[in-house]
Amino acid sequence: MIDFHAHLDLYPDPQALVRRCVEMGVYVLSVTTTPSAYQGTRELALDAPRIRTALGLHPQVVGDRHPEMDLFEKLLPDVRYVGEVGLDGSVELRSTWELQGQVFNRILELCSQSGGRTLSIHSRRAARAVLDSIERNPGAGTPILHWFSGSMKDARRAIALDCWFSVGPAMLQSVKGRALVRLLPRTRILTESDGPFVQIAGRTISPWDVATTYIPLAEIWDTDIADVEHQLKINLRALASISAGRKTQTDRR
Ligand code: MN
Repeated sequence: MIDFHAHLDLYPDPQALVRRCVEMGVYVLSVTTTPSAYQGTRELALDAPRIRTALGLHPQVVGDRHPEMDLFEKLLPDVRYVGEVGLDGSVELRSTWELQGQVFNRILELCSQSGGRTLSIHSRRAARAVLDSIERNPGAGTPILHWFSGSMKDARRAIALDCWFSVGPAMLQSVKGRALVRLLPRTRILTESDGPFVQIAGRTISPWDVATTYIPLAEIWDTDIADVEHQLKINLRALASISAGRKTQTDRR
């Protein structure tokens, strides 16, 4: 099982959750919302090789946390994964829109200068602006659009820009989400929970609940569940080999 976008540090008992993930063999991209959360979140997974921690600065907290860009810059040379980063065009965040753009573009620039990173990107109500930034920073690395909800036109553009996509149970429950997934190359799809911010059957989603995507994905891809699991595993392996090919500062020493 692969959960390529989960906020493990924001669950009530992160240690217990990590233990369950290890027992169940779940591969997790453990994203963070602030640079100051990175170190502690990484420490949760020191004994869990299938859990990778990403350095993030979430667009929803950029208004308060943008001074942490100094820390972001300091930590970036030694991380392979960046997220959650991106833009959020929701009405309630309008006052930070310009700042969000400056921060996201700076993050992509820094990623380029570091030789590229694997990025988990938020693009709610901001698909076009996110794609503009990705287009302007082709060396930033491999963008994975998490829970993409743009238009079909945006999706085609994202595919042309070599983006990957992480899709979760909530996205696959909506007609529009399924139509989008139908359009995406199946070799560039990973699953995600976005927990703990998603409810499933009246409770908080857990990383292993990504398994509920297999049936809808099998329907969309006109295949069986075993083939879906196989495809997702191949995709993860391909992405991991792209990520491993990028040198961090520690590798260079
Ligand atoms: Mn998230």
